Amino acid sequence: MAIDVEKIRSDFPALSLTMHGKPLIFLDSAASAQKPLCVLDVIKNQYVNEYANVHRGVYRLSEKATLNFEQARQKVRHFINAASDKEIVFTRGATDSINLVAYTWAASNLKDGDEIILSQAEHHSNIVPWQILQKRINFKIKIVPVDDNGDFIFEEYLKLLNEKTKLVSVMHVSNVLGTVFPVKEIIRSAHEQGAVVLIDGCQGATHMPVDVQDLECDFYVFSGHKLYGPTGIGVLYGKLSLLKEMPPFEGGGDMIKSVSFEKSVWAEPPARFEAGTPAIMQAVGLGHAIDYVNKIGMDEIELHERQLCQLLQGEMLKIPGIRVIGNSNDKAAVVSFVADFAHPQDMAMILDQEGIAVRTGHHCAQPLHERFGVSVTVRASLGVYNTQSDIENFIKAVHKVKRFFT
Ligand code: PMP
Repeated sequence: MAIDVEKIRSDFPALSLTMHGKPLIFLDSAASAQKPLCVLDVIKNQYVNEYANVHRGVYRLSEKATLNFEQARQKVRHFINAASDKEIVFTRGATDSINLVAYTWAASNLKDGDEIILSQAEHHSNIVPWQILQKRINFKIKIVPVDDNGDFIFEEYLKLLNEKTKLVSVMHVSNVLGTVFPVKEIIRSAHEQGAVVLIDGCQGATHMPVDVQDLECDFYVFSGHKLYGPTGIGVLYGKLSLLKEMPPFEGGGDMIKSVSFEKSVWAEPPARFEAGTPAIMQAVGLGHAIDYVNKIGMDEIELHERQLCQLLQGEMLKIPGIRVIGNSNDKAAVVSFVADFAHPQDMAMILDQEGIAVRTGHHCAQPLHERFGVSVTVRASLGVYNTQSDIENFIKAVHKVKRFFT
């Protein structure tokens, strides 16, 4: 069933803004998505009527706040089909989630001489934490290349996998190429070697249904703000058997069973990994953002965005002088490109004058840009609220930039 985009657009107040006198065309959802009014309303309402710190009070307001917070956890659990609420750890975002795994699971399981595998397309947040950890443990980082279309080269991956591989940490969908990685097959092959797998689902869970039990991944991470929820909240899904064995990330209130000056005993997951007052309202907001996308249907969202992505990609490829970076047949919601007639920065500034918000830069994927021989690209990325006319107007504006410079 086709989604009612006009109705959806009316749920997002920011989409009625004008920029330089032109209606806003928002094509930067891969960086962060706009928020529906229902998410904003629930946050305001709960701050006014149901706010107190969680987990600690026996008074009515605190019990209500705790209930709302824990219901958000249940919503996340159902959203990715985790087996238990205990497998859902709230973090500050995907970056925080990956760092948590690096400093807990990896720091206590990797040893000198071990190997981990990343892909060439990874976001810096799935590269740098491992490099920081390498200062403490002398493990090797091996890189699976992507081909000229931006596809994960599976044969190369299989060549890198061996009994020394302890972790495979790769993205679900590239935030530059849009490529959907064959994560199920990646996970299966890693498990055959006994390696643990982390999937960076920042651009995955936002654009398609995710079932962590079907994927059988060990860890899956994503950020709330890309899923129409607030900033400052993210998710670490971890298999309970792994979480139970992991030491804490940060120490503080709420993550302990008991404390004395001689010895403290850690709480069970997920509390063990949630030291201090959590981002209560952000978690509640994320829960409502999940309700919102569930009402539309993740299958429908995926279909809508894939159709728009195909249209956008096809139209861009018709423009002489445009080079699209990322031509996989399995692509979601992102089109990055360079033009031989305008520098990406100039392109983005002129598009801004037309009310069009796109991003330029390396999108926190410098090694990937290097692979394609470019230092920066322009990136147009899609959300549930984008329309065919957004794409048509964007294409017209790119032609205008071309006329301007040629
Ligand atoms: N991984 C990918 C693929 C991303 O697109 C992003 C955000 N651009 C991140 C990780 C980091 O997310 P956050 O900044 O929300 O922690």
